[in-house]
Amino acid sequence: RKLGIALVGLGGYSKNQLAPALQQTQHCRLAGIVTGTPAKATEWMQKYNIPKENVYDYKNFDRIADNKDIDVIYVVLPNSMHAEYVIKAAQAGKHVICEKPMAIYPKECQAMIDACKKANKQLAIGYRLHYEPFTREVMRLGQEKVFGAVKFIESSDGFRSGDPTQWRLKKSMAGGGPLMDVGIYAIQGARYITGEEPISVSAQFAPKTDPVKFKDVEETMFWQFEFPGGAVSNSTTSYAAGVERLYASCEKGWFELSPAFGYGPLKGRTSKGPIEMPIVNHQAAHMDGVCKDLLDGKQLPDHVTGAEGLRDVTLLQAIYRAAETGRKINLKA
Ligand code: NAD
Repeated sequence: RKLGIALVGLGGYSKNQLAPALQQTQHCRLAGIVTGTPAKATEWMQKYNIPKENVYDYKNFDRIADNKDIDVIYVVLPNSMHAEYVIKAAQAGKHVICEKPMAIYPKECQAMIDACKKANKQLAIGYRLHYEPFTREVMRLGQEKVFGAVKFIESSDGFRSGDPTQWRLKKSMAGGGPLMDVGIYAIQGARYITGEEPISVSAQFAPKTDPVKFKDVEETMFWQFEFPGGAVSNSTTSYAAGVERLYASCEKGWFELSPAFGYGPLKGRTSKGPIEMPIVNHQAAHMDGVCKDLLDGKQLPDHVTGAEGLRDVTLLQAIYRAAETGRKINLKA
């Protein structure tokens, strides 16, 4: 059996990545859609053969509870809307996948976790790279200390953002700028290479080169983590220009991915030569991985759940606090 997924929000990521990936998945299928735009509903129903009964808008969303075709609700909305729709999805008695960042504030993440727990449903975050072979290999190289202890990490993700009117540049909807959008990948990179939680953070905002476009959010920023095992990391995130690199220098060598975080193919090498791994569709691998566990009645691995989303959102806010105050922030519990 394939689990039926309903996509909530038919923007760029749903249209260009998730729906095409759902044509390749083994354990799930595109069963329904939630959209506020009738023209999109018509287009998607035709293109993906979605029956009318499986098409919802934001007003009748709660009726999805009665739809047996839909097992999983995948929330692909602007960041500020994740919490509300994840909680509604759990209350409708469905498993939930929520895009990154899980939410803007840790408090929202906790409410999302609590709602899913109360409904006895699982919550996955759209951490597609956790199912991606090159990424899994650098997790192994770092965490198993294949090149000795990791000494320092450079982990950066940014791109040149286009349309100045998009929600990604509005603090109320995005929660911040590139840190919220792609900086989270750089945070994840440092965390999954070390397999540790950072114990401190320092951060700096770069000067804005376009203060009009970036009046509401940062344009470029930097931060540094210290890890309990002795590794330190330095990261850049930006909407001014592209960067996409994860590099670890270890006692007895180094390894890197570049590109490291995009839709692929990712590329990697180590001080001993190229990293050779199969190239997969990230979104299909992620949704299949999550849905296989759901079908088997297994707990999802912790590093793709709401608990992991909450850790990242806590760090996102700590990075902003460090940059705003100019102080190194102690993250030890
Ligand atoms: P987008 O702007 O292309 O789409 C957003 C969708 O939300 C649109 O269909 C829009 O109509 C809908 N929407 C509903 N209510 C809205 C409102 N009040 N204001 C604005 N839009 C509203 O964005 P996207 O790139 O598809 O991103 C959606 C989510 O997916 C974000 O959380 C983003 O971080 C995440 N994302 C993840 C990845 C990944 O690789 N995992 C990649 C891209 C985006």
